Amino acid sequence: MSTNGKVKVIPCSGMGKVYGLMAREAALHTASCLCPGQAETMCLAYIVTGDAAAEAGIANQPCITVDGCPAMCSAKSVGAKGGDIKAEFKVLDIMKLHKGAKPGTATELTADGWSIVDEIAVKLEACILDIQREGR
Ligand code: SF4
Repeated sequence: MSTNGKVKVIPCSGMGKVYGLMAREAALHTASCLCPGQAETMCLAYIVTGDAAAEAGIANQPCITVDGCPAMCSAKSVGAKGGDIKAEFKVLDIMKLHKGAKPGTATELTADGWSIVDEIAVKLEACILDIQREGR
């Protein structure tokens, strides 16, 4: 993983929860489609398990964490490994704006789920562009 000035967008792993799936899909969509020139995503497992390249990739680098729930696994791990966290997103907070929505399951999103993922990705994009613009 490079220290190339790109903002690192790091979702939690959340394998058994729909909010974790939404965090991963939002981070992937942002980094691969919305702003591939300004951001990249990373696998939290490498960071948690102490992979040297992953740790070097986030140390003192601008990071945005995307967590599914209040456990905030990504924010805690990235912070503990020296990532410069510029913003912390939590899918649960965004779901509160969509009361009654049925986003899907831990393995498959519904149309509601994909729509909310798109909304999260747009918020991430705006945050990334702010970070790049302000050089923070
Ligand atoms: S933040 Fe919540 S959903 Fe994500 S990995 Fe941790 S416990 Fe799972």
